[in-house]
Amino acid sequence: MLRVRLHGRGGQGTKTAGSIISLAATLEGYHAQDSPMYGPERRGAPVASFVRISRDQVNERGYITSPDVVVLFDRSLASSKAVDPLAGLRKAGVLVANEGPEGTEGSVVRIDASSRARRLVGRDNVSAAMAAATCRALGISRVENVLSAVETELREVGLADQDVQKNLALAEECYSLVPALGVRDQDSPEAEHALAEVRYAPHYVSTSLIMSTGNSPQKKTGGWRTSRPVIDYSKCTNCMVCFVYCPDSAIHLDADGAPRIDYDNCKGCMICLTECPIRAVSEEAP
Ligand code: SF4
Ligand code: SF4
Repeated sequence: MLRVRLHGRGGQGTKTAGSIISLAATLEGYHAQDSPMYGPERRGAPVASFVRISRDQVNERGYITSPDVVVLFDRSLASSKAVDPLAGLRKAGVLVANEGPEGTEGSVVRIDASSRARRLVGRDNVSAAMAAATCRALGISRVENVLSAVETELREVGLADQDVQKNLALAEECYSLVPALGVRDQDSPEAEHALAEVRYAPHYVSTSLIMSTGNSPQKKTGGWRTSRPVIDYSKCTNCMVCFVYCPDSAIHLDADGAPRIDYDNCKGCMICLTECPIRAVSEEAP
């Protein structure tokens, strides 16, 4: 059995990518199973999902602690002690990372999925890109199966037809850039169990530790951001709607009543962009 663990941030498409890989493997003739980590799925917060692929029926359940492949959607997670994305990765395991410069060195595959997604789709959602790159690295040999899985899963989450088409182009490009590594599974402690024990992550993996009162400003949620809002002050009417709607109080009003974004604590949820009545907020790279 091959075990794939995906680490990303809420809003990047980590769960959807797991479903795409799983469906592509099924279309290729394997048994597959995918599941997300439930609980921390706030936009920008660290999230994970898990995929198991086998020639036999997959009975194992639960989080994957010894993956054959780790897929890293956001390089800022690499240094996070709470997430520790490479934990348990097998010695001969493979890392597929969303970062440049692109290339493959031994067991590390780098693909600049974010730049490609911004160019081809118009936003930094890399589910199709990272899933397609991972499918290729895993050795899923028919690109038609990967594209079919991308289309099915993106329609499932309600993407408009034109966005589905853009994501298909993105997936095809990313699939073609990665070598087929044909990852092989290895002896696994999990394989000893017909049904694996379901393990729960400690609470601090998904929840910030509040050790004393009034410490929210120290929790720099700006590090969660995958894109950032920028206010065009030539359009802004100081209506205060964004100030009212920001769920993290990351927008303050200056002495003249103009909204100012605190980028240390803005987590990039883009609610201010959605709520601004005159579209004075745009989305830019983090
Ligand atoms: S400033 Fe905008 S993007 Fe940032 S947290 Fe507030 S509502 Fe979300
Ligand atoms: S909602 Fe838009 S117009 Fe109103 S204060 Fe915010 S940025 Fe300015």
